[in-house]
Amino acid sequence: MGHLSNETDFFAVLEDRRWLAPGILEFRLRRPEGFAFIPGQFLRFMMDGYQREYTMLSCPEAQTIDFCIAVAAGGRFSTEIQQARIGSRFQVSGPLGHFVYQGAGNPAVFVATGTGVAPFVAFCRSGVARALLLHGVHHADGLIYRNLLVAAVKPYIVCIRRPATIPEDGIEIYAGRVTDYLKSELAPGTYDFYLCGRRDMIRDATAVIDGRFGDSRLFIENYG
Ligand SMILES: Cc1cc2nc3c(=O)[nH]c(=O)nc-3n(C[C@H](O)[C@H](O)[C@H](O)COP(=O)(O)OP(=O)(O)OC[C@H]3O[C@@H](n4cnc5c(N)ncnc54)[C@H](O)[C@@H]3O)c2cc1C
Repeated sequence: MGHLSNETDFFAVLEDRRWLAPGILEFRLRRPEGFAFIPGQFLRFMMDGYQREYTMLSCPEAQTIDFCIAVAAGGRFSTEIQQARIGSRFQVSGPLGHFVYQGAGNPAVFVATGTGVAPFVAFCRSGVARALLLHGVHHADGLIYRNLLVAAVKPYIVCIRRPATIPEDGIEIYAGRVTDYLKSELAPGTYDFYLCGRRDMIRDATAVIDGRFGDSRLFIENYG
């Protein structure tokens, strides 16, 4: 897919940073002149002695390239991005990745856990709306970009094991994991599934999809 790979290395300046929710930080780099990407792609941060990948949330035309990170206690990049001074330069490589919207085909089902919602935020910002979105979170706080997603996709179903704390305006709530929803709620059919999140969800959801929706297409972004 040659059109997706015009990867380059460059430096980008940290322009802003804010807490979206407890434990979830959004950070923005100034978009370098001429930098282009397709919604759903990610950048690789070339740090001193290690590398980390983050999915771009912003639309390609925006002046900043935005990301969100679930801050891991003791995590290397988590710590560095919290401490970095505004104006710091980061060496990055990209754009990278093939987790991009494939166009209207089978009904689309977007499945995210936590900050795995990032590529779907980027899809929505670029006008992709015909999808069912399942967002799995531990707490109501994890419903990042809720207003954008409520306005952009229908249905937008929040999967949470203790739903009592969530105000229902505009969203549907399912008391269980995203994989439980796929197992027992989603009607039989042929879909285009897009899965993004940590490896346990990807593994469990893939097993359900293979078992129940065998003719479907499956696109995966595994956060590890
Ligand atoms: C293609 C791609 C795109 C990605 N995009 C994003 C993104 O947009 N947003 C994002 O938040 N992450 C994203 N990730 C994951 C990200 O690259 C890092 O792995 C993550 O942020 C942890 O990095 P760290 O250096 O802070 O922690 P590390 O030093 O790598 O990890 C510290 C410890 O915490 C654990 N850990 C790390 N993160 C979590 C977590 N969220 N929940 C539970 N345990 C955790 C690790 O397994 C490890 O044991 C992406 C990964 C890939 C491969």
